[in-house]
Amino acid sequence: MRFRDQKEVDALRNLYKPIDRIAEEYANTLKKLVRKMKSLMEIAFVERLSPLIQQYENEQKKITDNSVDDIRYLLTRYTNLINAEIEIIMIEIYRLFSPEELSVIVANFIDIVDEAQRAILLKELTDEYETIPTETYEPIDESVDEILEEKEKEEKEYIPIIVDEYKERVQTGIVEALQTGLSTAAIFALLLEWGENALNKAEFVAVNETGDLFDSLSQQRQTNIGIDYFVWLTQQDSRVRESHAELDGHVFKWAEGAVGAGANGQDIWPKSEYNCRCFAAAYFDDEE
Ligand SMILES: [Zn+2]
Repeated sequence: MRFRDQKEVDALRNLYKPIDRIAEEYANTLKKLVRKMKSLMEIAFVERLSPLIQQYENEQKKITDNSVDDIRYLLTRYTNLINAEIEIIMIEIYRLFSPEELSVIVANFIDIVDEAQRAILLKELTDEYETIPTETYEPIDESVDEILEEKEKEEKEYIPIIVDEYKERVQTGIVEALQTGLSTAAIFALLLEWGENALNKAEFVAVNETGDLFDSLSQQRQTNIGIDYFVWLTQQDSRVRESHAELDGHVFKWAEGAVGAGANGQDIWPKSEYNCRCFAAAYFDDEE
């Protein structure tokens, strides 16, 4: 395991900074959609779901003998009515997340990450060599298309999961709330919370996916052009896990990774472990 000079490591970290902004932009794009979804559901709650909940509560009060069958029947009937109403609202929400819409968003995201990673690697190469040797530079994009296509497919699966989880949460959450006898206002407060969770999820997906794509491209492009070692870079903030902070600035072989450095003693690369935001900068072995 070799070290690099701390100043050099910090300069590299700066070079990788633009990725944060790209992740933030992608998060904002996804959050904009989620916010629209959230507001469609919240408006529909006020206009169409809360009257149903009100009716349910009124009818429940009419059951004077506390008959379990009557209460169960009433709950089932209103669960069905509410779920049917949510399905109608979902039609409009699914339109926001249509395959056509997602294609544009995902294609744009992938282009930006691809270009940024390429630009950063070229900057590292020119800093090292001034003029990049053609034979080194030529295979830079080999097998990159497969990575981009794979990621495009993944994104189009991940984004709709945010919508499905939200819908599921709203449907089961409202029924649970009816069973426990929560007021309409209390249910609305929960609805706002479920929306916030969906926003957080969108943010998480965006940041994670940006880093994941970026690091896959780093590995492919660096090894394509014969860079066998990488420098482990953390984000150097309070959220970096301690075990990764220890790897910051250390040099590892692409073929081996950080041997035994994982939480379970496994070999790891940046992004191998859950929610990792580390990067792998190119390392030029000057001694050889
Ligand atoms: Zn990490």
